[in-house]
Amino acid sequence: MPQAGTATVTYRVASAVDGGVIVIEQGGGGTTYGTINVPNTGNWQSWVNISHEVQLPAGNQEIGLIAQTGGWNLNAITIEVETTCMPNCQTGTVVQAEDFYQSGGVQTQTTQDVGGGLNVDWIDSGDWMNYNVSIPTSSTGLYDITYRIASGSNGGSLKLEQPGGAVAYGNISFGGTGDWQQWTTATHRVSLPAGTNQLAIASTSGSWNINWFEIKAVN
Ligand code: CA
Repeated sequence: MPQAGTATVTYRVASAVDGGVIVIEQGGGGTTYGTINVPNTGNWQSWVNISHEVQLPAGNQEIGLIAQTGGWNLNAITIEVETTCMPNCQTGTVVQAEDFYQSGGVQTQTTQDVGGGLNVDWIDSGDWMNYNVSIPTSSTGLYDITYRIASGSNGGSLKLEQPGGAVAYGNISFGGTGDWQQWTTATHRVSLPAGTNQLAIASTSGSWNINWFEIKAVN
C-alpha cells in the first residue's frame, strides 16, 4: 500500500454448501482486516466473485486468509487499492540527475548508490543542470524537494530556479558526507508551478555530487 487506506478485496469462490466464511488478516494473525460470507453457488465448480472493502496499513503487507467456516473453493484473490489522494498524502516524481537536457561544468559517472545508474559529479560553485520535469498537482502549491547528495569535501549549496535564473524557487545547503559515493538526502519546501515545466539546479557552492532529486506535492 502506498499509504494507509481502503482496499477492495475480491475473491473468486465456489461452494456447494452454505455458511462459508473467509477472514482476511495480517499474515501470522494478530490483526483482522475483515470478514466475508461465501455463498452457496450450487456447485463446487460454479465460480462467482465476492468482494469487500478493508482498511490496510501503509507499506508492504503479508496477508493471511483463514477459513473461519470451511466448505468453499478459492481460485483467485485480487486486492485493489483506492487511488484517491487522502489529506497529507504525497505523490512524488523522481528525476535522475543525469537526465538534464543542458548542463554547465559537470560530468556524469557510474554511481555506487542504491539502484545503480549514473550520478552527476564534479559540481562546483557556478555549475548547473537544466531539466524538463512534470510537476504533480499540489493542493497547497507547495512541494518537498529531496536531493540525493554526496560530498567528499565540505558539502555545498544549490539554488532551485528556472533555467537562466529569472525565477528562484529556493536554496538549500548540505554538509560533507565523508566520501564522494557516500549518499544522503536533503529536503526543502518550495512553491512551484504544477505541470510540464523546466527546472534548473544551480550550484552556489561546492563540491558535491547528485544522483537524483524528487518532487513531492504537499497536499
Ligand atoms: Ca542517477
